[in-house]
Amino acid sequence: MRSSRDRSALLDIRDNPALARGFVGPLTLSEFKADRRAFYAATRALEIISEAARRLSPSVRDRHSELPWRAIMGVGNVLRHNYDDVAGRAGLAHRPGRPAGPRSRHCGRDRRERMTPVQCRCGAVEIEIAAEPIVQFFCHCDDCQAVHGGAYAPESVDPADAVKVVRGDPTTWRLKRNPRFTCRECGTRLFINVEARRLRGVNGYLLPPVKFQPAFHVQCQFAVRPVVDDLPHYKGMPARFGGSDETVGW
Ligand SMILES: [Zn+2]
Ligand SMILES: [Zn+2]
Repeated sequence: MRSSRDRSALLDIRDNPALARGFVGPLTLSEFKADRRAFYAATRALEIISEAARRLSPSVRDRHSELPWRAIMGVGNVLRHNYDDVAGRAGLAHRPGRPAGPRSRHCGRDRRERMTPVQCRCGAVEIEIAAEPIVQFFCHCDDCQAVHGGAYAPESVDPADAVKVVRGDPTTWRLKRNPRFTCRECGTRLFINVEARRLRGVNGYLLPPVKFQPAFHVQCQFAVRPVVDDLPHYKGMPARFGGSDETVGW
């Protein structure tokens, strides 16, 4: 049975798209850009939808897995954190002494496209990744097996200072050497902090699918079962990451 919290969130999700459309009405894009009232009202309606999606129980979201929940939940942050950029694109940014010429708009767009927002399952924790990954792979090591409770784990490796917690207060714990960051509400494993190398390995299954492009498998010596695909399968690590380049026979 649905809780009243879910019910109110679902009503928000049902009603606000029509409200947003009503605020925009028959305005053309240039008229919408010039109309602050319409702009603020429409973006507020989108924020409410995004917030409501976060409030929903994961079980309700799971029942409608055809919907892009992560993107819906992430829109609120784009509108909030990148306010300058959204407003700038709508011609609303107030920048004394700095005209919003093509150059500044271009920089804003680049920044937004590089930023990848990642959330835990319940939405309590959000991290942002402000760099292109150094490397992405599937790791079969026994550490990843224990931590993730699976045969292997997808990893997206970034410079440590490019991976920031922007909402929530994840708990940290160490299985072996390196601390893992986990949502204390829903238990989602977010990333591992590889302190010695100043790297953070974000769990690849949290990224939008287009943002996870694994190049190979590593630590296949620990593999529970062979995973046969056309990627290289390294016994340990590739040489450029401190291994020997030795591969396994599958
Ligand atoms: Zn969570
Ligand atoms: Zn591993």
